[in-house]
Amino acid sequence: MKVTFPHMGHLWLILKTALEGIGLEVVVPPPCTRRTLELGVRHAPESACLPLKVNLGNFLEAKELGADTIVMAGGVGPCRIGYYAQVQREILRDIGCDYEMVVFEPPDVHFSEVWDKVKYLNRRPWQEGVRGVILAWQKACAIDLLEQELQRLRPREVKPGQADAVFQRALRDLDAAGSRGDIKRIVKRVKGEMAKIPRYTDRQVVRLGIVGEIYTVLEPLVNLHIERRLGALGVEVVRGLFISRWINDNLFKGLLPLPGHNPEKTAPPYLNHFVGGHGWESVGDTVTFAREGCDGVIQLAPLTCMPEIVAHSVMASVQEAKGIPIMTIYLDEQTGESGLQTRLEAFIDMLLWQKRRQAGKVYNGRGRNPCQETMPGCLRGQ
Ligand code: SF4
Repeated sequence: MKVTFPHMGHLWLILKTALEGIGLEVVVPPPCTRRTLELGVRHAPESACLPLKVNLGNFLEAKELGADTIVMAGGVGPCRIGYYAQVQREILRDIGCDYEMVVFEPPDVHFSEVWDKVKYLNRRPWQEGVRGVILAWQKACAIDLLEQELQRLRPREVKPGQADAVFQRALRDLDAAGSRGDIKRIVKRVKGEMAKIPRYTDRQVVRLGIVGEIYTVLEPLVNLHIERRLGALGVEVVRGLFISRWINDNLFKGLLPLPGHNPEKTAPPYLNHFVGGHGWESVGDTVTFAREGCDGVIQLAPLTCMPEIVAHSVMASVQEAKGIPIMTIYLDEQTGESGLQTRLEAFIDMLLWQKRRQAGKVYNGRGRNPCQETMPGCLRGQ
């Protein structure tokens, strides 16, 4: 059995460790590229969710590398996630791509089924398998910790790209790490390397929350590397969606003391119940970011994503009540880099202007124009 899975952000590294830990041969799908998307788009229905198309591309590329079994998560709820895996199974069968599919439905709904599937996949004595899964969890926590450091550094580094290079090396090292000790050493070393990166101390940085559907938030191909673009515009990105938190919220039911989503407390009265996907969390996180003093929020969603459309419909009320600017971006295979870049620049320019106005620094036509100070991304006063 050669297993593969969807390649979403850094999830590949965590799944690879877990599946190898239970003794399976793993074929990691190549990182998502335009080819991945084109393959998915060619075979999926036009109206299908964008993540379904990208996943399909992942599976077709993994097939070329010899994979014969797909492990993926299913879902429940009012949106299309419930029949996602079945649609993919039919499409793959129709185009003669022979795959066995093992679909994990949410454990709180189908626990015995999940257990049966774990037993079916496991090839090792239980103790060894559990050790592999714990190692994967530790890697997830390490990646998320370093990624938050990366998000803080990007808008402040003097030479753009240095922090990203360090982070990419860290991912390679974490992939090879075989024990908790290795992971700790890598985290310590990488934090040290990041601390040495020269940075501006006097730059005015915009703090921006990112919310939305998990795939569009975590997969750089789908969101056209939005976090890197924002970093270059002088924006510190914060988000509530990280793989470790998602695992803690959904698989461990929030048992571990990690910051997680709490939409039942934060989203009302704007949205009072689960609407599928991450729609409820998008509203709750937006409220949280407003309370934490973020300058703005960007909501990311695949075109036609029902839960995010519901969330979008109440964002105007959140914006008005909390006084936080919100921009929603729908993404699909037609989304172009230039259009996205223009929208980001305009939004960040507006946030910077508002920030400076609140600080009483907007030029009133008399004396020295404060907008001519070094301010990444700001075109005012030039
Ligand atoms: S959350 Fe959105 S993108 Fe994901 S399956 Fe549901 S409708 Fe599609």
